[in-house]
Amino acid sequence: MSKRDPASNQLLDYGKKISDDDHESATTNSGNPIPKKDATLTVGKKGPTLLQDWVLIDELAHFSRERIPERVVHAKGAGAFGYFEVTHDITQFTAAKVFAHMGKKTPIAVRFSQVAGEMGYPDTVRDVRGFAVKFYTEDGIWDLVGNNTPIFFIRDSILFPSFIHVLKRNPVTHLRPDYDMFWDFISLRPETTHQTLVLFSDRGIPNSYRHMHGYGSNTFALVNEYGHFFYCKFHYKTNQGIVTLDSTKATQIAGQDPDYHTRDLYNAIATGNYPSWSFYIQIMTPEQAEKHPWDPFDVTKVWLHANYPLIPVGKLVLNRNPKNYFAEVEQMAFDPAHLIPGIEPSPDRMLQGRLFNYGDTHRYRLGANNLQLPVNSPFKLHNFSRDGFATLDSQGGAPNYHPNSFGGPDDDKRALALSPIWPVGGNAGRYDNGGEDWDNYGQARLLYHRVLKEEERERLVDNIVSWLKNAADFLQERAIGNFSKVDEDFGRRIKAGIQAKKKTKTQANL
Ligand code: NDP
Repeated sequence: MSKRDPASNQLLDYGKKISDDDHESATTNSGNPIPKKDATLTVGKKGPTLLQDWVLIDELAHFSRERIPERVVHAKGAGAFGYFEVTHDITQFTAAKVFAHMGKKTPIAVRFSQVAGEMGYPDTVRDVRGFAVKFYTEDGIWDLVGNNTPIFFIRDSILFPSFIHVLKRNPVTHLRPDYDMFWDFISLRPETTHQTLVLFSDRGIPNSYRHMHGYGSNTFALVNEYGHFFYCKFHYKTNQGIVTLDSTKATQIAGQDPDYHTRDLYNAIATGNYPSWSFYIQIMTPEQAEKHPWDPFDVTKVWLHANYPLIPVGKLVLNRNPKNYFAEVEQMAFDPAHLIPGIEPSPDRMLQGRLFNYGDTHRYRLGANNLQLPVNSPFKLHNFSRDGFATLDSQGGAPNYHPNSFGGPDDDKRALALSPIWPVGGNAGRYDNGGEDWDNYGQARLLYHRVLKEEERERLVDNIVSWLKNAADFLQERAIGNFSKVDEDFGRRIKAGIQAKKKTKTQANL
């Protein structure tokens, strides 16, 4: 037998641990021993099956209920477990216990994913990758639900369902990508331009989940022990180095091994090659935010490193594969609203929408008690929520109302002290946040001109052309118009690329 990787050997390794004497008797879901697993209860050798065959009915009934709704976004993913370790003191910015002292370790779970494809979609597609971290802290769960890009396509969560729809299947043809849907939305909402450049740059197809950076993407706030707060962005930089795939290689791998990223992560951890990321923050004071030349809570833009340098904090290490994928990864429920004392949301409008949306998804997918699943919250609960489907812990005789006179749980004084009072003001309204006054192109220009090298710019143009050439002519023109606002030459190169493709096609048809 040729040499096999740990992922291929999973069953062999399991089997090796079980001696003949250890074999358990099979049971029904109610724990009753099954006398004969592979034969139904029939009337005679050739006769019909008896309805009293509970062994059969128990298994069939459960089988048809095996699937739960997949996530609407980030359906295809892989997960692993490990720890976060503090390597630098940031207690001047936050009193969150997870950062309490150098050397402090906190268990974590991470789920990587792609955004648009369904659960069985190939891993090596051009797409943003999810990079969500669950910290199991003394103050409960902190979910940092980020991506492998520091920015996002849109800045207002009301556009999120539409944006995801254009990445998904056409409702009539059931095909994806639908290039008209995609380029229509992208070109009508020019705030997508910066992230579109990142998506079509080399980093749009990572070689593995290990070889990409992660970002909290949204802006958060940190609160220190004196109640002072600071706005904050989280960055986690890969210690494996950035490695990407070109489109041709990625397409080839998609056919050969659709689970390429999932396999890579499993095998790396199984062979002790534990991936790690260095964890940084950027800090902006409320005074700086007030004077900032653009909305610092606009998630289509970064905070420039020169003005807001990366401050080292610690490292993320992944050293354990899931014991079971469904139990520990498919049921893992991340929610940006899971914050701990010392970390708060910001006015970032995308974050504000996400604070509702993620928990709501899990209530739909996994039920009202999804947070009682061991992977989601291994903590003893002390609250006033009760009952619902699949309740594991209804908190015994503790009062189910507040206030009460019978020793029920009460306010946490430390959490109260760390709850900031922050200024908000202004006139309520539905403000257009996509217009030219939002500077939709400036940072895309920086990326194009200053960050990318010439050969990277060439590949960026080629990658855009390979998608845009499939869209209707008027959408091509509108998209090129937007790219020309990033840089006139950039727009010209995309236009020339599309014309060249059209010419080749016409010649091929002659
Ligand atoms: P710098 O010029 O100081 O650094 C450039 C950053 O861009 C580095 O973080 C680099 O990552 C990253 N990068 C390189 N290639 C790509 C790519 N194809 N896609 C995405 N990121 C890439 O950054 P500035 O702060 O001056 O910002 C300039 C531009 O850099 C921004 O407009 C933005 O597009 C991009 N950028 C900025 C980030 C920030 O937080 N300020 C983060 C990521 C990108 P690496 O660390 O691996 O070299």
